[in-house]
Amino acid sequence: MEVTLAVIKPHVLRNTYALQQIKTLIEENFRVLGHKEVHITKELSDRFYAEHRGKFFYHRLTTFMNSGPCYALILQSEASVQKWRRLMGPTKVFRAVYTEPQCIRALYGLSDTRNACHGSDSEASALREIGILFPEFDVLAVADRESKKRT
Ligand code: ATP
Ligand code: MG
Repeated sequence: MEVTLAVIKPHVLRNTYALQQIKTLIEENFRVLGHKEVHITKELSDRFYAEHRGKFFYHRLTTFMNSGPCYALILQSEASVQKWRRLMGPTKVFRAVYTEPQCIRALYGLSDTRNACHGSDSEASALREIGILFPEFDVLAVADRESKKRT
């Protein structure tokens, strides 16, 4: 069983209907090991988005993530990284709208930056990112316990 990190971005939290739809989709597809509202301060986003530092959209992205609360969830399922990224759809909203009109980013994204949600790109990234947003959470111990419950 693999874990991944999902982050619902600030503009979606201001849209109760959108947030509820996404939470329902998540509950239908994953076991939720942890969830919380989190304010991604500049300090947190500098760590979280370190790989993007220096890119033209970095300031825009980190400022946006800091513009209001986000909702972060630790998700577990078979191949959860790929599964969540498939549900999110392409990074660029215009592409999402044309190629996968039912994906989360097509339905609730507003722009390339405000593209509704984040998903880790590998399990290693997920563990790193969970460590940043859920420092109190022993993800390996919880994931192991949850896996054993199922067998
Ligand atoms: P995420 O990491 O958020 O799940 P991703 O892996 O599909 O998305 P990345 O390349 O890691 O895409 O980009 C991280 C985030 O940076 C994107 O979700 C988006 O908000 C922003 N971003 C990426 N490319 C652009 C761009 N060309 N213009 C504006 N913002 C961008
Ligand atoms: Mg990414």
